[in-house]
Amino acid sequence: MATKDLSQAKNLIVTKNLKKYFEVGRGQILKAVDGVSLSIKKGETLGLVGESGCGKTTVGRTLIRLYDATDGEVIFDGMNVHKLGKKELKKFTSRAQMIYQDPYASLNPRMTVGDIIAEGLDVHGLYSNKKERMEKVYKVLEIVGLNKEHANRFPHEFSGGQRQRIGVARALVLEPDFIVCDEPISALDVSIQAQVVNLLEDLQNELGLTYLFIAHDLSMVKHISDRIAVMYLGSVMELTSSEALYEEPLHPYTQALLSAIPIPDPEIERNRNRILLEGDVPSPINTPPGCKFQNRCRYVKDICRKEAPVLKEVKPGHHVACHLVD
Ligand code: SF4
Repeated sequence: MATKDLSQAKNLIVTKNLKKYFEVGRGQILKAVDGVSLSIKKGETLGLVGESGCGKTTVGRTLIRLYDATDGEVIFDGMNVHKLGKKELKKFTSRAQMIYQDPYASLNPRMTVGDIIAEGLDVHGLYSNKKERMEKVYKVLEIVGLNKEHANRFPHEFSGGQRQRIGVARALVLEPDFIVCDEPISALDVSIQAQVVNLLEDLQNELGLTYLFIAHDLSMVKHISDRIAVMYLGSVMELTSSEALYEEPLHPYTQALLSAIPIPDPEIERNRNRILLEGDVPSPINTPPGCKFQNRCRYVKDICRKEAPVLKEVKPGHHVACHLVD
């Protein structure tokens, strides 16, 4: 588990009541992100976890302005990201990058690795001649554990882990401060996942990077995250340090997610109580009033069907959105 001292670090990115809604026809609105307030310190890794469709990728994309926000704010290093002019926006897009989930689909199969990595340099005009362009490419290839000979090859010549390294190199070449890592290991073999996580951790230590690390289950974010936010249907349900989340999960949804992680010891695995999530994830188009988790919660009370719980700090640094947690 990450054990950095971030007590003196300043916030690099802050979201205030961030909303991203999509019109899905017939006047219906899909509330993918529904009032998310988060902050990430410089050098920190914030894990963002939840089942598919909970809005975590939309949060990541809205943070770096791949999507415009419907409402709310994203403040990056003091700048309001969704109010930037053309010139500042271009600068911002080089400082905030993304690593994508699928290293097979996210690399153009017709481009060489060198051209894929250099694309951002081309867009931002960050070299004065071809030699400098390729030197920058070679440098990041080396940083991610590949070599300059790889620049002339095509993506299909690489394994999944190597392709994800190319994806990391593509993000790094612009020397960003902040990277949204969108499920960067979930498409990889288990044996390769740790290598990519270690690479991201090493790069963070060397380059002072800040990450939003998105994953669909809690086992994947455990080792890399300083803090973790658990999302459900567009809202954050619990937010705290990795340590506190694994040792003392307070939200019923987090408890259920944690109980679904297999334990390697067969004896403990056989004897432990699993919390089964009941019901289906409701549609984010017509969420019921009250708590979004109500139809799957084993502790549901009358108040949960009437009032939506607010995310509040119940212990220092530990935030929970649940009527029963105080
Ligand atoms: Fe369960 Fe109610 Fe808490 Fe929602 S507010 S998680 S329904 S107990």
